[in-house]
Amino acid sequence: MVPQTFPNHPEYDKYYDVWTRIDDCLEGSEAIHNAREKYLPKTEGMASDAQYGDVIYNRYLNNATYPEYAHDFFIASTGLLKQKDPERSVASWAFRFAGSPKHVLTVLSGMTYMEHLQDNIRTYSPLIPLNEEELAFLEETAELMQKYPTIPCNDCKYCMPCPYGIDIPAILLHYNKCVNEGNVSQGKEAENYKKARRAYLVSYDRAIPKLRQADRCIGCRQCVSHCPQSINIPKEIHRIGKYIERLKREV
Ligand code: SF4
Ligand code: SF4
Repeated sequence: MVPQTFPNHPEYDKYYDVWTRIDDCLEGSEAIHNAREKYLPKTEGMASDAQYGDVIYNRYLNNATYPEYAHDFFIASTGLLKQKDPERSVASWAFRFAGSPKHVLTVLSGMTYMEHLQDNIRTYSPLIPLNEEELAFLEETAELMQKYPTIPCNDCKYCMPCPYGIDIPAILLHYNKCVNEGNVSQGKEAENYKKARRAYLVSYDRAIPKLRQADRCIGCRQCVSHCPQSINIPKEIHRIGKYIERLKREV
């Protein structure tokens, strides 16, 4: 989609990879799998094994899971905008934001389809500047998007085995799942604290055997260089471990 949309953009080459990556993430699991080695590269062992390397790689590719967090979150955040004003398109919020400051004379828009043009004409005929309440609402939505605290683990298991037995992907994916289901609470004051606390602790013990849990990580960092997503694994594991400790203390 990107190449047709912005071929003349002055920073097209510079940002092409980022744009396509965002596109793929939003499209979800199928796009990630179809891109094969772009996101799920072969290990050295797979690449050097002329006889079985491809078979092992294809098996690995079939088993790799890509949780649809980006897509789900995109839907949730655009849902907030739609809920606020069902008659307006999501893009119209951005154009009103860009056009509202009083010294702005021109707003450029990339439009691919006639519907985009029609929507933009509706937004600017005439432009209704955002009021304070709407600006605050957009700010809150943007903050929410920035805070969405999942960890970009794709369960490739390149970091495994951990010499100390930690089930790294299981811990990270369990955390992401709880974030997605609203079971990571900000503190005791949070409305759903008791329910979220219980849900997190019960599902954690079910998903990960005690000896493989986050509190066993000694921070040796042997896993770090293996992660293609550049996740600071010990830091995330310790952060999750501390969160769980706190949940256990705060009865
Ligand atoms: S830092 Fe922790 S998770 Fe990583 S290899 Fe060492 S013990 Fe295992
Ligand atoms: S932490 Fe990194 S290497 Fe380990 S499973 Fe997740 S993405 Fe793969």
